[in-house]
Amino acid sequence: MSTATETLQPTYRFFETTVARTERLSPGFLRLTFTGPDLHLFGAGGDDQRFKLLIPDDGAPVTELLSVAGPDWYAAWCAMPDGARPHMRTYTVRALRPEVAEMDVDVVLHGIRPDGTAAPDAGPAALWAAAAQPGDPMVLLGPDRPGSGRMWGVEWAPPTDADTLFLAGDETAVPAIAAVLESLVPGPRVVAVLEVPEVGDFLALRLPPGVDVRWLARGSRARGELLEPAVHTALRELGIARDVPGADPGEPVEEGILWEVPETGAHTGCYAWLAGEAGMVKGLRRRLVRDLGVPRDAVAFMGYWKVGSRG
Ligand SMILES: Cc1cc2nc3c(=O)[nH]c(=O)nc-3n(C[C@H](O)[C@H](O)[C@H](O)COP(=O)(O)OP(=O)(O)OC[C@H]3O[C@@H](n4cnc5c(N)ncnc54)[C@H](O)[C@@H]3O)c2cc1C
Repeated sequence: MSTATETLQPTYRFFETTVARTERLSPGFLRLTFTGPDLHLFGAGGDDQRFKLLIPDDGAPVTELLSVAGPDWYAAWCAMPDGARPHMRTYTVRALRPEVAEMDVDVVLHGIRPDGTAAPDAGPAALWAAAAQPGDPMVLLGPDRPGSGRMWGVEWAPPTDADTLFLAGDETAVPAIAAVLESLVPGPRVVAVLEVPEVGDFLALRLPPGVDVRWLARGSRARGELLEPAVHTALRELGIARDVPGADPGEPVEEGILWEVPETGAHTGCYAWLAGEAGMVKGLRRRLVRDLGVPRDAVAFMGYWKVGSRG
């Protein structure tokens, strides 16, 4: 007998796909379009919908997992022998077209040099994407029905009464933030600050009127070096920052927490959503909460990846 809770939850399942086409959007971004017989069943419910790519070392299809259904997917993946177990990496659905069974994913080509050779720290996902050709197989893991909330891999859920939406991130958050911005309906003030590797990575977005997007080109600077002051400036312009003189010791921000999405964030009418490299995001969140007086329950922050850490 199924319970009410079960009927509310998605079932994660594997989707057999192939690369339909690739498009180099910019020096740093590659768009992969996947197609597959079941892709019309993929349950994309939110604008920052995440899912997994399963990347085998040898490029062969991961057929063993395709017969696994429901909650057993993780155990089945873990049970695969070392060497055969594909790498699992998290990405964002940039666009889903169920009517033609297609999904777009924008992949950051980190560690891939301009001449196409790989740096020593390039990861399997970026390497696979850089070499992807139409017809290449890829198995995806995602929900089997649309929904909202963490269970479905969706974190974008601003309070309905927010009068200001503020988004910031590095290039790995660009697909999620772009999808969020493109779907917004008129109402709140919206500002997004995006730090990407170079000017050529400033992507053309189909934005609703009034959405203010500020691109920053990192160049040779440290990650976040431009983003942090730009976030400060934007929040001051919006009248959100209350200019706490010096650090406010009464508003501690825990070390080590890299993912926190509050239920509501209604105190100031501003909802802030930060994603990207974990250390950078932690610093940004600290700046917002401790130095600028933004209420902590109005700030969602997500460490999408961590320098020096794989997967
Ligand atoms: C919810 C969510 C959504 C995401 N959506 C996207 C997306 O749509 N597009 C996207 O490109 N990424 C996205 N990411 C980030 C992506 O999962 C990571 O960048 C991932 O580590 C890439 O895997 P890899 O196999 O290429 O490298 P890994 O094997 O994981 O890492 C190899 C080395 O590269 C470093 N590294 C990893 N990513 C980067 C990077 N971007 N720049 C510089 N160094 C890096 C690591 O620190 C490590 O030293 C998302 C992550 C999350 C959690």
